[in-house]
Amino acid sequence: MINVPKGTKDVLPSDSCKWQALESAAREVARLYNANEIRTPAFEYTELFLRGVGDTTDIVNKEMYTFEDKGGRSITLKPEGTAGAVRSFIENNLAESLYQKVFYFTPVFRYERPQAGRLREHHQFGVEFFGSAEAGADAEVISLAHTFLNKIGISGLTLYINSIGCPTCRAEYNKALTAYLSKKSADLCPVCNDRITRNPLRVLDCKIPECKQALVGAPKIIDFLCADCGTHFGRLRQALQDFDIPYEINPDIVRGLDYYTRTVFEFVSNGIGAQGTVCGGGRYDNLVQSLGGKSTPACGFGMGLERLLLTLESLGKASCAPRGPDVYVATADSEGKAVQNAAVSLLRRNGISVETDRTGRGLKSQIARADKLEARRLLVLGATETSSGIYTVKNMSTGETAQSDFDRLPQTVKAE
Ligand SMILES: [Zn+2]
Ligand SMILES: [Zn+2]
Repeated sequence: MINVPKGTKDVLPSDSCKWQALESAAREVARLYNANEIRTPAFEYTELFLRGVGDTTDIVNKEMYTFEDKGGRSITLKPEGTAGAVRSFIENNLAESLYQKVFYFTPVFRYERPQAGRLREHHQFGVEFFGSAEAGADAEVISLAHTFLNKIGISGLTLYINSIGCPTCRAEYNKALTAYLSKKSADLCPVCNDRITRNPLRVLDCKIPECKQALVGAPKIIDFLCADCGTHFGRLRQALQDFDIPYEINPDIVRGLDYYTRTVFEFVSNGIGAQGTVCGGGRYDNLVQSLGGKSTPACGFGMGLERLLLTLESLGKASCAPRGPDVYVATADSEGKAVQNAAVSLLRRNGISVETDRTGRGLKSQIARADKLEARRLLVLGATETSSGIYTVKNMSTGETAQSDFDRLPQTVKAE
């Protein structure tokens, strides 16, 4: 037997309605913000992520699925959603179009130790707003996430916001952080020691307890913001207040990606243990330019759908029932079989969902099957019906019956 690859999961027919519910809620909310869907490939040239995500991040260093294709090109399965959307934004000149707010559903691939809500292939709902440097755009993005999370019934989330500044204030902060980390270098892991000079901010992502301990008392970037970044952060806070979205400032949130500038945020749940971030995002004013586009400010978020479903399950809100067919068409004998295809096709042409027997079950067992499937109506075809021209449609929950000729079967099935 061949199993599903480690770190991946099937979505089974009995569960797919949960996914559909999430996706349709996301589409409805995106519509409220006039965001349109974008679909980009599951893989890109590796260089996009080296330049886009950053070559000192954990994602790029340890977690990417990278391979050479038969043409000798280095290909990487998407480790996150933003870089592909930005690549497409630039390549298709969307800056000149009406479509500067996009959303997407995408698989995301990361080679990491599988744990609850963390798979090697998971799926994200992402949103990117291009073209606005205003804090109001950050607040709109956060508000979209907030509205969606409320709509699907996730309660008890905390929104944490932080500002990680611009390259100007980052330079000042990096000096202070480097000085601090240099004094602690004996307590830091080898990877973090390497990062002290290459990209000190990434030391803050390290999950090793000794490194975390060494960071207690480290300078916080929010204390190093330049005047413009300080103003931006103040405006974001005001806008969130205007949107009536509660938040907490958390100076420890830096996100594990190099492209963020100024605003970063996370929605965190307490439902599934320590790893409870259900949505993360922020502003990335320099990414479009660094990937070869015209300088374009932007902000966005991604949320893992598997983790959202786990959170919903822990709240007892993830239930859904796949819909049974509108009618079960059973056959009693060979005369019934002779009109079976004409009947089911007439019903389906009229928008009625039909299940019918294709395995040669007896009539009794077909009716039991209809019951089990929770079909709403039952139509039995047999010699009695074909010779009289009178067909009986039974309501499976009330037991009531209605009679019809063959041509009016769709109307009779629909009528209640
Ligand atoms: Zn700044
Ligand atoms: Zn470390």
